[in-house]
Amino acid sequence: MAKTLLMAKNAAEAIDAKIASAAFLAGGTEVNRLGSTVEAETLISLKKCEGLNSIKKDGDKVHIGSMCTFQDIVESEDVPAYLKEAALFMASRTKRNMATIGGNIAARRSDSYLLPVLCAVDAELSLLTGDLEESKNINLYINEENDDSLITGITVPESVQVASKRYANTAQSHAVITMSAASTAECVKLAVAVKNTGILSFNLSSSGRLTEEAAVAFFKNYEIKDIEDDMFGSVDYKRYLLGITAYDLCKQLIAESGKEV
Ligand SMILES: Cc1cc2nc3c(=O)[nH]c(=O)nc-3n(C[C@H](O)[C@H](O)[C@H](O)COP(=O)(O)OP(=O)(O)OC[C@H]3O[C@@H](n4cnc5c(N)ncnc54)[C@H](O)[C@@H]3O)c2cc1C
Repeated sequence: MAKTLLMAKNAAEAIDAKIASAAFLAGGTEVNRLGSTVEAETLISLKKCEGLNSIKKDGDKVHIGSMCTFQDIVESEDVPAYLKEAALFMASRTKRNMATIGGNIAARRSDSYLLPVLCAVDAELSLLTGDLEESKNINLYINEENDDSLITGITVPESVQVASKRYANTAQSHAVITMSAASTAECVKLAVAVKNTGILSFNLSSSGRLTEEAAVAFFKNYEIKDIEDDMFGSVDYKRYLLGITAYDLCKQLIAESGKEV
């Protein structure tokens, strides 16, 4: 359990205080959760940091401060509908009032509410590491183990066609699979959170229509590291669900945009 709480006034102060035995504290719903894997002697609270909780539109892009809560996202007029839909996967309004988008990304959970949709649309993260400010594609970020960066913001495209699906026993239960498909000019990008396995991303070319048989066969044979039988279902069940969901989401995108996949 943490012994010290630092209240950072801005991002520079927060990153200055970040050492191996310290962790950032955003909404605290993961850090303070019973059974949380976050262990730190010092917590660096981002609550009072200036400039991390605004939402701004810039042409086709929407920039979201990392301290924006799920509820801020749901209520904003500027956030695209596809991201609001994913924020509402967190069914508890009490939790939505606390949990932040930055905390959800940094938690890198295999049943993440937001990572599938953010990876599918290739969200760009604004990061601060020491003195270095950089922009990084979220698909790169989630595969790195560097926990020393502070996420200051997330940039997402507005006009992209997205379809998402989450499977859980109840709205409050953990999801076995959460998948999003985003249609860009070049391809359809699929990203999926598989509980206890991780986040997987795929680019599907737009050459020929994806059939249900092809989608099911692809996921039946695709090498997925760490996929196991568990309380969420057998490996065969999860693979089947991945296949039919990929097919369904692509079908939905075709229906909405008229584009073949
Ligand atoms: C009952 C319960 C069920 C849950 N179920 C789910 C679930 O199904 N799916 C899911 O995704 N989550 C789940 N969570 C976890 C949590 O609610 C969310 O992941 C939430 O979005 C975390 O956001 P937060 O602001 O509360 O993060 P915090 O708890 O404050 O932080 C989470 C992690 O991110 C780091 N961090 C926070 N902000 C930043 C930043 N700006 N830059 C860098 N690192 C940062 C922290 O150091 C910590 O490691 C659940 C939590 C509870 C209590």
